[in-house]
Amino acid sequence: RMKSAAAPIRDVLKDLHTRLVANYEGRIADYIPELATASPDSFGIALCTTDGQVVEYGDYKTSFTIQSVSKPFMFGLAIGDHGLDHVLSKVGVEPTGEAFNSIVLDEVSNRPYNPMVNSGAIATADLVKGKDYPERVKRMLEMFSRYCGREVFVDNTVFMSERMTGHRNRAMAHLMRNFDMMSEKFEEALELYFQQCSILVNAHDLSVMGATLANGGLNPLTKIRAIESENVKYLLSIMMSCGMYDYAGEWAFRVGIPAKSGVAGGIVAVVPGVLGIGLYSPLLDIKGNSVRGVKACQELSQKFSLHAFESS
Ligand code: GLN
Repeated sequence: RMKSAAAPIRDVLKDLHTRLVANYEGRIADYIPELATASPDSFGIALCTTDGQVVEYGDYKTSFTIQSVSKPFMFGLAIGDHGLDHVLSKVGVEPTGEAFNSIVLDEVSNRPYNPMVNSGAIATADLVKGKDYPERVKRMLEMFSRYCGREVFVDNTVFMSERMTGHRNRAMAHLMRNFDMMSEKFEEALELYFQQCSILVNAHDLSVMGATLANGGLNPLTKIRAIESENVKYLLSIMMSCGMYDYAGEWAFRVGIPAKSGVAGGIVAVVPGVLGIGLYSPLLDIKGNSVRGVKACQELSQKFSLHAFESS
């Protein structure tokens, strides 16, 4: 397990960065024009330990939208608001083996398969409490701000673009409403989902968010609680089984670290009790995961024996 001082670790990150930044495999997401403007050169790596040490290299301050990396955190907010049983009556915890935008629901229960696919994330957003829509947005933003240790904001252009083009997500919400899996406020939930996807973060933020989960829900930099400690395990287990789209099984096998990726190129990974990893590089592989981010996690996992089922 990782115990060395910061300087040698920075050298490890530098070496990793230098080798992987030369890799231009993959494609930048272009389903909305705002994402397509990301630079293929961008690559940031950040580590934050549970005792609050931060080591980072490259473009760790470059901001991008959080996108699907937001999903486990929203799942945590919903569990905090309603308790696990109610949340699980609206969304399952079973991997799909299908793409993140798959429209399939569980045939028996009519639930979306899990909160990491879009349908499940939209059903999860429906569960976020608040007396009106502004209060729900505020509670969502405050939750992400507690994880990041700073106030976060929505990129309004991305948000507008997501909501203008999100017909498939809208169709899923209607389907789930048809099956009574979403409330009469399902259109509000869609808005909330588009907003959560459009929050601006950087690799540093993702490492702090990961470190907060690694630290039982307490942000190691601000000492502010982001989530009840008894609920952290639910986020981590769903990240382990479903966090990397339809690569999740192989990821759990090879890397063995709970993680979540997003279509803008971010990845958050969590080594419980040890550290959080934040990565950013917008070139995506065919499954939608950051090419450099996946490779960096694989190498870090091997080098520091971070796999959950490592014997030693
Ligand atoms: N906004 C994107 C969508 O809903 C987010 C998906 C993702 O990051 N995979 O399609």
